[in-house]
Amino acid sequence: MWWNLRTVEVRKRRVKSVLHEYYDVEDSKGGLTVNPYVGCSHRCVYCYATFEWWRDFHDVVEAKVNAPEVLSEELARWRGSRIEPVFLSTATDPYQPHEGALRITRRIVEVLQSKGVPYYIYTKSATIVRDLELHARYKDRCVVVWSLTTVDEGLKRALEPGASSARGVFAAMRRFASAGVTVGVTVDPIIPGLTDGRENLEAVLAGSRANGASFAYSGVLRLREDVWERLGSLLRSMGKHEVVELIERMYFSEGRRLGPYRIPPRSYSERVSSLVREIAESLGMRYGIPVGEGDLLSPVERWKDAKITWYLEGGEEHRGEAIGAGPPSASSSLADIASRDPSSMLRPMS
Ligand code: SF4
Repeated sequence: MWWNLRTVEVRKRRVKSVLHEYYDVEDSKGGLTVNPYVGCSHRCVYCYATFEWWRDFHDVVEAKVNAPEVLSEELARWRGSRIEPVFLSTATDPYQPHEGALRITRRIVEVLQSKGVPYYIYTKSATIVRDLELHARYKDRCVVVWSLTTVDEGLKRALEPGASSARGVFAAMRRFASAGVTVGVTVDPIIPGLTDGRENLEAVLAGSRANGASFAYSGVLRLREDVWERLGSLLRSMGKHEVVELIERMYFSEGRRLGPYRIPPRSYSERVSSLVREIAESLGMRYGIPVGEGDLLSPVERWKDAKITWYLEGGEEHRGEAIGAGPPSASSSLADIASRDPSSMLRPMS
């Protein structure tokens, strides 16, 4: 296994800053992020946030216990004429099980709300339901995105052993959508030969749609040396040798390098994203990320009147005002984030 401890150890830590930039190397855009924790008990095998094989990432979670107070101070000192929506989170899941007791994410959200700052929540968890009322009262200025890679619960447990079940995610989506919160789903990472089939993608999107998701987007697996070490080993242990061969060919023979990652041929990524778009649109969902415009770019005190509106589709801006990229893909570009956000990854994601 890619972890050592049976249960995750949670350590409390005090930080000096929490509001950081993230940067997506693939589309060369960035935004603001707050990571309440370092490390993640969801233990996804493909996690990019583990950076260079940091073996403690899935065993030790550091909780930034003073993050809400520090964020409040940072926002009070904000000098820019505008501030982008804040993304929770880019290098860890903000709703890991221990959030229930620590309530750091909750207090961070309370700070953002008190300042009128829009935010995105990005999670693989149903734990967020405990904060349903908190987000619902801010529903015009927040978006909740669930990352869901498959509805095959057995496969999901193998890939993301600590994350909520697909059934739990759908139930949480339904609660939020019923409360009027904008919710969506991202299928990311899509793993070639394993989760890239039409049947799986249709099941994820149809289930999300049936439970109130109004948008969807996706990302294809990127491989870094340590990611492939974990994933390849898991696939072999599952007897998925044909998937291993497919990935090796697609990434290491036909693919190319992107920063510290190997990525598949562009034709494959485009074919998969086209398929997700086709399925999403056939279900009446938007393909892309809701990103704010207009007043969302205004000074923070004016954000009280702002609403998040549809702005970005399929990675392309349609209204010509360049702003943040919105939520990064599942664990996208985290090496880059790490280089800009050392405290959020502790040395180095949502
Ligand atoms: S991919 Fe995201 S949810 Fe999964 S272990 Fe990494 S940070 Fe946690």
